[in-house]
Amino acid sequence: MGLIVQKFGGTSVADAERIRKAAQRLVEAKLAGNRVIGVVSAMGRSTDELITLARQVNRDPPRREMDMLLATGEQVSIALISMAIHALGHDVVSLTGPQAGITTDSVHGKARIQRIESDRLNHELDQGHIVIVAGFQGIDDNLNITTLGRGGSDTTAVALAAALGADLCEIYTDVEGVYTADPRIVPDARKLDVISHDEMLELASLGAGVLQPRCVEFAKKFSVPLRVRSSFSDDPGTEVSEEVLGMEEVVVRGAALNRDEAKVSILGVPDQPGVALTILQKMADANVNVDMIVQNVSRDARADMTFTVPKDELKEALRALKKLVPTLGADKVIADARIAKISIVGVGMRSHTGVAAKMFSALAKAGVNMQLISTSEIKISCVVDDASAEQGLRAVHEAFELEKPETTAPK
Ligand code: ASP
Ligand code: MG
Repeated sequence: MGLIVQKFGGTSVADAERIRKAAQRLVEAKLAGNRVIGVVSAMGRSTDELITLARQVNRDPPRREMDMLLATGEQVSIALISMAIHALGHDVVSLTGPQAGITTDSVHGKARIQRIESDRLNHELDQGHIVIVAGFQGIDDNLNITTLGRGGSDTTAVALAAALGADLCEIYTDVEGVYTADPRIVPDARKLDVISHDEMLELASLGAGVLQPRCVEFAKKFSVPLRVRSSFSDDPGTEVSEEVLGMEEVVVRGAALNRDEAKVSILGVPDQPGVALTILQKMADANVNVDMIVQNVSRDARADMTFTVPKDELKEALRALKKLVPTLGADKVIADARIAKISIVGVGMRSHTGVAAKMFSALAKAGVNMQLISTSEIKISCVVDDASAEQGLRAVHEAFELEKPETTAPK
């Protein structure tokens, strides 16, 4: 007998029929002799609808109240799926994040889980109950409801799996698994059988969308066996696993497009020690996540610093930076939100050469101009004009022949 965590995303609980389907999967896992925890997201697009509603009453809603509002979406799902399980004749109990003992820090809208007190969960499991937990939410030390950032139910699931030492965490979604690229943009994208934590982490943070990056971090850190699969089929999906021998033989595992970032530049910054620190510290204080950072070679002892930030944090970034311009003696701040980031990822890049050249040549041939470039051991990213982003992604996917099955299937 094992412990299984099954997580169902918004599309997997979008209506009554799908909720019944998800309930059946949970019951099947129970009947197979497991202790079972279900984690669910809000139904369909209901989180988006709640956000729209909030903006209709306040264009810049207080983050605490936003969390109070958004947490209701998941609460609807846990109650309904528990009712569906009950109707199938099984013992079940639904718990909100706080009831499940999930304590977070107080950063509303993107809180991080700090601890999970699992007494209640274990007690319910010991009684033989299927336990349904609301994803995406927790409570801080002052008893404020918090949420974990968009897609946060994945993180709830993996964190629970880690805390309780689950034997498997299955993430049920509306696609068959993790693809070499977004199939809506690249029609011949291929489903991967296996991907390493590090590759998944890069792809997830690049906006590949299937999993929240925090969830992959948890899975890696606590070695949680993770599988991404479709709730509409019996395909085994994609296994997200520790890196094993042979994985490096595949140079590029996947390509991704991120359209959620904007580019910010501070022009004419005095080229002195500590200036970059001041700027980035300001961003950290404003809770803005800074991604690609580029500083050009200075002319006349002045330099330009450019970086990318999430689009929905652009306002806050600009607010903070504009205040900083006079203090720093810089010229001005400019921003461009019509950008996209194309990236390729693969642990094999560590041991192969010429990867960047191949990517740049694919983009050049497709007439896509690169604005910023950054690399890591297992990733190369280029910022391009949003209008040419999809074309660029297709060109890169084709250049690395990602549609073809891996010849050296990693085992
Ligand atoms: N309902 C939340 C969202 O839409 C959390 C989740 O789906 O994981 O982002
Ligand atoms: Mg989701």
